[in-house]
Amino acid sequence: MGGTEQSFVKSAFDTNWVAPLGPNVDGFEEDIQQYLQSGTSVAALSSGTAALHLGLKLLGVTRGDEVLCQSMTFSASANPIVYLGATPVFIDSESQTWNMCPEQLEIAIKDRISKGKKPKAIVAVHLYGMPYQVEAIHKIALTYEIPVLEDSAEALGSSHNDIKCGTFGDIAILSFNGNKIITTSGGGALVSKTEKYKEKAIFLATQSRDDAPHYEHSEIGFNYRMSNILAGIGRGQMQVLDQHVQKRRNNFKFYKEHLQELPDIKFLEEPNGFYSNRWLSCIETTSYELRETIRTALGKENIESRPLWKPMHRQPVFEDCTMYLNGISDDLFDRGLCLPSGSNLEQEDLFRIVSVIKNVFT
Ligand SMILES: *Cc1c(COP(=O)(O)O)cnc(C)c1O
Repeated sequence: MGGTEQSFVKSAFDTNWVAPLGPNVDGFEEDIQQYLQSGTSVAALSSGTAALHLGLKLLGVTRGDEVLCQSMTFSASANPIVYLGATPVFIDSESQTWNMCPEQLEIAIKDRISKGKKPKAIVAVHLYGMPYQVEAIHKIALTYEIPVLEDSAEALGSSHNDIKCGTFGDIAILSFNGNKIITTSGGGALVSKTEKYKEKAIFLATQSRDDAPHYEHSEIGFNYRMSNILAGIGRGQMQVLDQHVQKRRNNFKFYKEHLQELPDIKFLEEPNGFYSNRWLSCIETTSYELRETIRTALGKENIESRPLWKPMHRQPVFEDCTMYLNGISDDLFDRGLCLPSGSNLEQEDLFRIVSVIKNVFT
């Protein structure tokens, strides 16, 4: 926490705005809009997953549709496709950013169209804060006229050519879950460039209530709006977002400076024009065995680390899905490791972590 969160929460109590609406919700949305710029409209919701669910619905995804989804991601990118009765089709990664591979994306689109199943949407993810190949992905999406749902849950504070992540998709989503770069304990947002999507998202998120003195419904609704209490935490967190990004980028820089002389450890560099919030600092080792040796050595010192996201195409729940693969995400999953990355890590914590890793090599 940054320090001012409690005063926003207190103001919610003092004014009795203890509900999924109120001045903090409006204020938090405005704060995010200002931060992202380029004419964004933001709807604060109960989670990033809820934002994905509503976002896909707003893009017209419905029963029987296919949606192209980055395979290397957290399951929340893909689950909402299934909530809508649609089917995910998984696309592998490229090695520059670890995100959706433009070549595999185009192969998949052509193949699905040839089979009479033109995809309804593309879910592209800025994994660990590293922007996906924005130009290439959106060029393909435009060519085939398929909308993009930009999963920016891990990438608030990242940018591509000085344009903030969360503003590239037809619709984008953010997450404020407890583990993200800023948090409301649980929460999310839907970002779009038209007030219309925002209004429709809020309508759906508040039980789809028609304009009438009684409760009238002509559409199925959801209870997905953000609480005014939690939005108060969010307002305080927006004041420390840039600090958190700096802190996380410093974590990455520290690891790189202290470990890059080890020939068996590699870091994901930012391509020209790419700016990552370095939500998590990850390393690439040379083998599954080495990755496990490092992970176990850290574990013995009570230091938590974790393999990269297991690709969705390898998850039991999605094993029957269609997938377009090039081997890259499988390989990254085998060899990659997320290091401790919190915004509150102290210098001495970082020294302790790198010394355990260096010891593996002596
Ligand atoms: C965290 C996360 C989500 C889901 O956000 P919640 O707020 O936890 O529902 C979606 N996609 C990615 C890539 C995430 O990391």
